[in-house]
Amino acid sequence: MKPAPFKYIAATSLEEALSYKEQFGDEARFLAGGQSLIPIMNFRLAHPGILIDINGLTDLSFISQNGGGVSIGALARHGDVERNTVVASSHAIACEAIKEVAHPQIRNRGTLCGNLAHGDPASEMPAVMLALQARFKAKSATGERWISAPDFFQGVFETSLAESEMLTEIELPEQEENSGSCFIEIARRRGDYAIAGVAAIITLDEQDRCRSARLAFCGCGETPLSAELTQQNLVGESIDEQIARAAGESAAKELDPANDVQADAEYKRHIAAVLTKRALLKAGERAQKIRLQSE
Ligand SMILES: Cc1cc2nc3c(=O)[nH]c(=O)nc-3n(C[C@H](O)[C@H](O)[C@H](O)COP(=O)(O)OP(=O)(O)OC[C@H]3O[C@@H](n4cnc5c(N)ncnc54)[C@H](O)[C@@H]3O)c2cc1C
Repeated sequence: MKPAPFKYIAATSLEEALSYKEQFGDEARFLAGGQSLIPIMNFRLAHPGILIDINGLTDLSFISQNGGGVSIGALARHGDVERNTVVASSHAIACEAIKEVAHPQIRNRGTLCGNLAHGDPASEMPAVMLALQARFKAKSATGERWISAPDFFQGVFETSLAESEMLTEIELPEQEENSGSCFIEIARRRGDYAIAGVAAIITLDEQDRCRSARLAFCGCGETPLSAELTQQNLVGESIDEQIARAAGESAAKELDPANDVQADAEYKRHIAAVLTKRALLKAGERAQKIRLQSE
């Protein structure tokens, strides 16, 4: 299928892109990698009158170290993040999860910010952003603001970005010492959206007990979801098979999956529990290895 007719504007600066968005509002969409926008336009699920192409704004393709944290610009492609050695050492879970997004060709074109702005609750990276406690910079022609990950994702394909705003940057804060992480999902085929997936981050104390835990899920609700109560209950525990299994069962109860074309809600809860157990054990093991190496 072909998209409905639209006007195309290639922005030559951030200011110009933002001023067009201010002028045209909801009638216009930013075009980043086009890996979500163009398919939905071709299926006539979206028919923006104007596309503002931001691919010329190469200043926004940065991935830079920011103390112990990392800043990622609007034009950084999935593939750039996947292959970035700084991200791999400071926020390994982002590289591990991004490999599950689609296929290499799509990752070479699609951007992380475009993926997050699209707001698909089945996407891997929104859950990873929740687990990493990322912050999002939204910029408009009149100002800028920072939005926390839980406030950013509002519903199915819905974010808190205003009509006039662009997501220009993501900030991944420094992770605590002795932290290990793991992302796992189940998808029908390699490269498909997950039926369900979990991002787990565990920080250990000197006795290898859990100092803090973060668990965030994709495909299990209208937005990426954290299992807040389960996270709290893990504090002080040694992450063994029994604790991880109980945490999986508890986390599954905190989720809100719906029946969809891929699986029913009951199956999603079941796999969320199983994946949580596996992810916690792996994250705990990785955290312990990091702690022992730092001794
Ligand atoms: C075959 C296939 C399989 C896929 N599988 C997966 C998968 O398994 N998991 C997954 O998560 N994704 C998957 N995707 C989607 C892919 O990850 C997209 O690249 C990504 O979702 C969107 O990034 P983009 O840069 O292409 O954004 P675009 O398609 O250009 O834009 C998407 C939306 O975000 C808006 N937008 C883009 N950038 C910004 C910005 N900086 N600020 C504000 N709004 C912005 C656009 O206006 C549009 O509404 C798949 C895509 C395809 C084609």
